[in-house]
Amino acid sequence: MIDPRVSSHDFDTYLKLIADFTTDELIPGENEMVAAAAVPDRLVASMAELGLFGISIPRRYGGLEWSMTQQVRLTFEFTRASCVYRSRFSTVIGLCSQAILDHGTDEQRDRMLAPMAAGELVTAFALTEEAAGSDAAHLITRATRDGDAYVIDGDKRYITNAGWADAFLVFARTNANEQGAAGVSAFIVDAHAPGVTATSATRMNGHAEAPVGEIRFDNVRTSERNLLGGVEGRGLTMALRGINHARLHVAATCVGQATRMLEETTAHVTGRSQFGAPLADLGAVQAVLGAGYAELEAGRALVLDCAAAFDAGSIPRHRIAAAKLYCSEMASRVADNCLQLLGGAGIVGDHPVPRMWRDVRALRIYEGSSPVHERNLAKAMIKQVATDGTLPDTFRV
Ligand SMILES: Cc1cc2nc3c(=O)[nH]c(=O)nc-3n(C[C@H](O)[C@H](O)[C@H](O)COP(=O)(O)OP(=O)(O)OC[C@H]3O[C@@H](n4cnc5c(N)ncnc54)[C@H](O)[C@@H]3O)c2cc1C
Repeated sequence: MIDPRVSSHDFDTYLKLIADFTTDELIPGENEMVAAAAVPDRLVASMAELGLFGISIPRRYGGLEWSMTQQVRLTFEFTRASCVYRSRFSTVIGLCSQAILDHGTDEQRDRMLAPMAAGELVTAFALTEEAAGSDAAHLITRATRDGDAYVIDGDKRYITNAGWADAFLVFARTNANEQGAAGVSAFIVDAHAPGVTATSATRMNGHAEAPVGEIRFDNVRTSERNLLGGVEGRGLTMALRGINHARLHVAATCVGQATRMLEETTAHVTGRSQFGAPLADLGAVQAVLGAGYAELEAGRALVLDCAAAFDAGSIPRHRIAAAKLYCSEMASRVADNCLQLLGGAGIVGDHPVPRMWRDVRALRIYEGSSPVHERNLAKAMIKQVATDGTLPDTFRV
């Protein structure tokens, strides 16, 4: 549960608390996490006490209800540490809580959000399937009405937190005659219900300490009260708010990761001498550092700009997609350039940069892969220019 003293902090005090927790606990805990191949339980408990599961959930449900600008500023801080820590609460603060908050029934909000904010009920977002990755609307998991319940059958894969979640937000087809998004509904499903089996991946390229998992739903019976919002056919529409929220958080995560990698690498090239002087004295090295810093700050500005629009009441989904695309590519470029500047230490040993180089690679694949965002942005541009000559989410007056 969230420490009551934390709930009474103003934002600046809370931000400092999280920054100190990152510096004093999360970063020093990284090697322990890698050795154990899991996020230590004591750190998960601390994250819950500090309210990290509740940053986006309203106070009336026991959360901290920070604005989107405040949430991304917090993310810049706690993702200076391994982004694996963040993945433990990311599906609660983004994809799942926001869909329930915006579209759930009163009973679903009352039942779910308070324990989620407290870190006592971990939820995972179960959308992706073998046949439905980038093309998520063509999922084939079925939910068949049977009296006052639904029976769910199907398989999900690549699901963050699948292995330890208490409940899943499951997307399943309730209308077999409708093959696209309109046939899909969302359900809150108890992870321990008969017929549910979740397994974690045994090999990961990055994110090894919080592996994604597969979930099998075999004749799983769930009450109609678990149909999100009590309506069929709107599952993917309901997911959208959470997806935009999560995409902006992923972009902010990339900023946090790039910050740490540039800090670590600047320290390394300053401390290491070759040819009789620190590597940092070489113009070629300075060019890499300076360009990385400029890209980092461009990404940060884009994230803060989207967050401000979000807080002002509009969700600039195209600019959010652009932020996710740009920042995830930026973090990978920064990671690769930093790794190069480490030389052999980027390949051998336990320097954090090579681990982060692996971790940030996934950020270009989930929450919409980079090529899919490029395609969607181009399609929106072409459509809007044909309509009124402007660009989507335009700044023009
Ligand atoms: C670490 C991690 C965590 C994840 N967590 C979750 C989760 O919690 N819940 C969940 O439901 N899913 C999750 N996913 C799944 C993720 O959303 C999918 O991996 C992603 O949507 C891509 O689907 P796919 O892997 O099937 O790739 P595919 O759809 O097979 O695509 C492969 C590649 O093809 C290219 N491509 C595909 N379509 C297009 C297009 N239209 N235009 C141009 N290029 C294209 C892209 O390069 C893409 O990367 C996670 C994945 C990872 C790696």
